[in-house]
Amino acid sequence: MSATDGITLDDYIRNIPDFPKPGIQFKDITPLLSHPEAFRAAVERLAAPFADRGVDAIAAAEARGFLFAAPMAMTLGVGLVPIRKPGKLPFTTVSAEYALEYGNDRLEMHSDALEPGRRILVVDDVLATGGTMKACCDLVRNAGAEVVACAFLIELGFLKGREKLEPYEVFSLLSY
Ligand code: AMP
Repeated sequence: MSATDGITLDDYIRNIPDFPKPGIQFKDITPLLSHPEAFRAAVERLAAPFADRGVDAIAAAEARGFLFAAPMAMTLGVGLVPIRKPGKLPFTTVSAEYALEYGNDRLEMHSDALEPGRRILVVDDVLATGGTMKACCDLVRNAGAEVVACAFLIELGFLKGREKLEPYEVFSLLSY
């Protein structure tokens, strides 16, 4: 029995209608972040299934992915590889494109961040269409590393991001 067993994570997710634009229901995780036991419960429950999976490192995209990836990396005793918007990383980078509603965007990772054969857990706060996570997985695979799984706090099931991520394993704590 852990001190966080009784925590219902859903109680700490706030729905913000029409943010950042009409028709989008934004899943606001700030109540969870501000509640230490709920935050701890989320990190423990995200990390626990991967404790014995031979994970070598966690990779995550800015910004909200970092909030969960860093404490998960500590919990699992592995390193963290930041994936960032273009122009933010100081060393040479590799990049992957992904589609937005209008046009494309790009994510970057340091070219020496991952050695071939490393086993990587990729983390984000929310799985929506899956484009962001797919780009992260492309970066991991292009570096010759292996995607162990994609882990999310929240999955928006109706957007079918899970299908875009096939054949990767997808794990989420909350599904809407
Ligand atoms: P996608 O690439 O469509 O799967 O979008 C995932 C990224 O956008 C994640 O990094 C989320 O932080 C953010 N995101 C997308 N939709 C939402 C939403 N409804 N609520 C909160 N964050 C979202």
